[in-house]
Amino acid sequence: MSIVVVGSLNMDLVVGVPRFPLAGETLLGGDYARHPGGKGANQAVAAARAGGAVAMIGRVGADAFGDALTHGLQADGVRTDGVLALPDVPTGVAFISIDPSAQNTIIVAPGANARLAPDDLAPERFEGARVVLLQLEVPLDTTLQAARLGRAAGARVVLNLAPAQPLSAAQLADVDLLLVNETEAADLTGIAVDEVARAPERAATALTALVPAAVLTLGAAGAAWAEAAADADADAAAGPGEPAASGLVPGFAVDAVDTTAAGDAFAGALAVRLASGAALADAVRFANAAGALAATQAGAQPSLPRAGAIAALLERRLPPTEEPRG
Ligand code: ADP
Repeated sequence: MSIVVVGSLNMDLVVGVPRFPLAGETLLGGDYARHPGGKGANQAVAAARAGGAVAMIGRVGADAFGDALTHGLQADGVRTDGVLALPDVPTGVAFISIDPSAQNTIIVAPGANARLAPDDLAPERFEGARVVLLQLEVPLDTTLQAARLGRAAGARVVLNLAPAQPLSAAQLADVDLLLVNETEAADLTGIAVDEVARAPERAATALTALVPAAVLTLGAAGAAWAEAAADADADAAAGPGEPAASGLVPGFAVDAVDTTAAGDAFAGALAVRLASGAALADAVRFANAAGALAATQAGAQPSLPRAGAIAALLERRLPPTEEPRG
């Protein structure tokens, strides 16, 4: 398997409400809908649909939701022997309510996701991986251990810092590439979010003080990327070194209807291109196409695009003329 995803699997339970209830209040909503979700599972499906050979490591409960999530991954060609069903804990669930103005509230009950422990990660599962793709919806110790095992196996370790959590350079020691959106970048760098939006390349470059490479997604505007110079002295305690290159890759103009999971589509597609050895700017362009396509369809996993659709969108436009600077 060239891409190993270690992360969350949730069943999303979605209900429309006329307005959000007050504390102590009971409201009648519409019929609920059930969708497979969780950032880990979404990104695994995104990578598989974008053409990757993907294995998922995670935990579900031994219940109907766990079975449905596991079978859903398999239907998309994701290997699931690393997804174990635990007998004494429910599958992770996200309770989502949506009001008529499309605002939402989300309560996540992590369930089995919270039980994925560092010791559950078998080093053999990382052998041969080109990319290990991580998020922050399972315990942090586990995510950091996955980064360690990925690095030891020679994979490129990509951490999507979502949901945002402040991490130190020491905690990020085994991360090769940080993938963040504007608010996550602001949280991590201390740069104000409007300043991140105004000068995204600079914010991406600021992240290379922590990790060798960073990608900053910018919604419809696309994404910025930055890479630190390869460090001549690999043992240097001084960190990844001076920025070597950065760039801004414009997004694709599409009729966006729902940007849910656009970030997950981007992450999965980025992993696929990086696993095939593409340069970062090229991988970002491919990921922009996947993110844009996800924004044109409602929902999370149903909106994740396949390789053919991504290729078609990429061909619709000449490659950006932007050159790496630095
Ligand atoms: P998140 O949902 O994690 O905040 P973004 O909104 O930055 O992430 O979206 C991730 C990626 O999806 C963007 O970098 C871009 O490639 C693509 N994308 C998102 N929204 C749009 C849009 N309206 N039009 C085109 N591409 C989009």
